Amino acid sequence: MTAPDEPLETVTLELDDPRPDEVLVRLAATGICASDAHTHSGRIPSPSPCVLGHEGAGVVERAGANVTHVGVGDHVALSWMPSCGVCRHCVSGRPVLCTAAAPALLAGTLLDGTVRLHRDGRPVSHYSFLSTFATHTVVPAASAIRIGREVPLAVASLVGCGILTGYGAVVNKARVIPGSSVLIFGAGGVGLSAVMAARVSGAGQILVVDPVASKLEEAKIFGATDGLVPSEHLVERIRDLSGGGVDYAIDAAGGEGILGQAFAATIPGGTIVCVGMPDVHARPSLPGPELVRDEKIVTGSLYGSSRPSLDIPSILRQYAAGVLPLDRMITQAYDLDRIDHAFADMHAGLLKRGVVVFDEALAGFATPPVTLAA
Ligand SMILES: [Zn+2]
Ligand SMILES: [Zn+2]
Repeated sequence: MTAPDEPLETVTLELDDPRPDEVLVRLAATGICASDAHTHSGRIPSPSPCVLGHEGAGVVERAGANVTHVGVGDHVALSWMPSCGVCRHCVSGRPVLCTAAAPALLAGTLLDGTVRLHRDGRPVSHYSFLSTFATHTVVPAASAIRIGREVPLAVASLVGCGILTGYGAVVNKARVIPGSSVLIFGAGGVGLSAVMAARVSGAGQILVVDPVASKLEEAKIFGATDGLVPSEHLVERIRDLSGGGVDYAIDAAGGEGILGQAFAATIPGGTIVCVGMPDVHARPSLPGPELVRDEKIVTGSLYGSSRPSLDIPSILRQYAAGVLPLDRMITQAYDLDRIDHAFADMHAGLLKRGVVVFDEALAGFATPPVTLAA
């Protein structure tokens, strides 16, 4: 990406060697996330020129001198939230709040504040530490999570953002228990991952709200019991269906007014988890007396409130065991030089997830020479 809204270019860049706490990864596949598109459009500010992409999986080609947890030839899924391991949040088991990682992420550098990418000698920024729209990438060692070789790397790539975000909101933050009712706003990649997580958590009722009726049908394939299109009487319908209100509500959309609906549709003592990123100027309000009297919990969840080095392998083991049908998330695979088609298909609402494939054998998915929007 040379600049916001300029056409994406496929070019050859210079990539420096990994430093002692970094690894060089040859990518097999990368998922395409809405955040990439929001950065390309300028809605999410990020330094440019840069290499976009933040859901990737591949094979370690070189490891820095200090790296001990992965070695050459290991299969890795990449986490865009590397943690320092020593700040108070890392030590308390909440590495997604790591105070060391966030400033470098926003600056478009690696953890030491410098870049490994150059074009004709001039610096090119990283994106979310990973820059996975590329055949190779140098990432912080803490971003490289070793995974089993039995998992297709296209599936593993998706776990690094959307799947972990939706799954973790349900399992780590809401802590859904068997027999409970879960309401999920949004049936995109994150929402469908939340549906899968609610199902494996034993939820008795999984209600999904999305304005696109076809997405509601897909949500049912992943485990949703009820699909609802937003309407004037949405909250009343949810209360009717759930016998007075749901135990948990997950906002995987982040749109205006959703938090208020989620709050109203939840039973006293229930939990509302905000996952979808709202507009930067959003200032949602809640009914104060009910917040006190009904003891509802309203909380945010970043990156699935996860511990990526534990949660990513755990999710992939559940995929390998046939419990989480993660491969069904992939609608279409693309070559890198057709990434603009992938963005167009995503904007047209045709993709659960699109992936760019660099190595068909390792990725486990072929790239047919067609695009969905064509
Ligand atoms: Zn993402
Ligand atoms: Zn930290």
